[in-house]
Amino acid sequence: MREFLPPGWDVQGNHGLALVIAGPSGAGKSSVIAELLRRDPTLSFSVSVTTRPRRPDEVDGKDYTFITDEEFDRRIRAGELLEWTTYGGHRYGTPRDELVPRLGRGEEVVVNVEVRGALALRRARLPGRVVLVFLVPPTREELVRRIRARGTESEEDLARRLRIAEEECRAIPEFDYLVVNDELAAAVGRVEAILTAERLRIRRCSP
Ligand code: ADP
Ligand code: 5GP
Repeated sequence: MREFLPPGWDVQGNHGLALVIAGPSGAGKSSVIAELLRRDPTLSFSVSVTTRPRRPDEVDGKDYTFITDEEFDRRIRAGELLEWTTYGGHRYGTPRDELVPRLGRGEEVVVNVEVRGALALRRARLPGRVVLVFLVPPTREELVRRIRARGTESEEDLARRLRIAEEECRAIPEFDYLVVNDELAAAVGRVEAILTAERLRIRRCSP
């Protein structure tokens, strides 16, 4: 097949792709991403930095890099973060080193950020295509049930996250794709379909 195409074209795709997954806390971003990475080992994850305390099941350097407020300030001053925000009283940021070199090499990187961070990444002039996916739970009741079932937030934090969720949904029109996370396997299948379509884009295969 490749011999058919003029020199420089590549049906495997040769441009970087940032697959950004945003949406309300508890929608299932981490769960969907973990399954996506398990199914396709060619994908990598952009590990954010945060000042939030580590949850018992999280691994430092894999889920997040957990840092102090002072270190967060230092990274901002040094220009090491592509975007950052405060969410629920803690700070989160995307390190430049997690995205720019990999996209520059034509790799596909999955990113977990809140809504404003997703929109900031679209504006960040990254060396590759940025695709924004908004993940939603099937109902508000199910969202509450999932956050409670995760058992990592207080009732006060839960209320705060639900308020943020309502605010975040206003930005849906600015996203490229909307995915409902009802059954986990079905939701992961939908995100894989997006990835497949993005890999087939003419611009991604062109010289
Ligand atoms: P987020 O990263 O968006 O905050 P998580 O991936 O931590 O969300 O999911 C929140 C909770 O909901 C977790 O306890 C997770 O196991 C559960 N969960 C995720 N997806 C589903 C699903 N499709 N069905 C039922 N529970 C789910
Ligand atoms: P959590 O505390 O549940 O892990 O994450 C809270 C929110 O912060 C989620 O919406 C998550 O997507 C977002 N988040 C995680 N990392 C980053 C980041 O680097 N930048 C931004 N803007 N948001 C992030």
